[in-house]
Amino acid sequence: MQHPCLSCGACCACFRVSFHWSESDPDLGGIVPAELTVKLDPHRVAMRGTEGGPTPRCVALAGTIGVDGHCGIYPQRPSVCREVEPAWEFDRASPQCDKGRLRHGLEPLTPEVWIEYRRNLVADNDPNHESGHPPTAPRAA
Ligand code: SF4
Ligand code: SF4
Repeated sequence: MQHPCLSCGACCACFRVSFHWSESDPDLGGIVPAELTVKLDPHRVAMRGTEGGPTPRCVALAGTIGVDGHCGIYPQRPSVCREVEPAWEFDRASPQCDKGRLRHGLEPLTPEVWIEYRRNLVADNDPNHESGHPPTAPRAA
């Protein structure tokens, strides 16, 4: 089971994604690609596609929402995106996550989703998982 955000992207097509323009100015240490932003006012820019209108969709969102939707500039995403938590990943509710998913017809995440996700992570990292050898199996010298 992959991380739920990697088959979602709903919150990237729900809200205006605005932030201070300096985040897109490399001279000031900004890392958001400026060509993917649009000026909102003297202080703020927004990710293109989210600046207005009834059906926002960030220009950096790749794939299909609910299938393989994911951020195409993940290491360069703005601070506001980094602040959005998937619901219950850190044992907290996330109204933005819930609203995004509901808007796109996806069930809200639950604590049980993360229990399953972590169980699979442990299994995937266990060298004995599906290896045919239990952890205590004797090894040939
Ligand atoms: S809506 Fe929630 S699960 Fe979907 S990408 Fe955003 S934070 Fe992740
Ligand atoms: S920059 Fe990435 S994380 Fe932020 S709204 Fe756009 S696609 Fe989503």
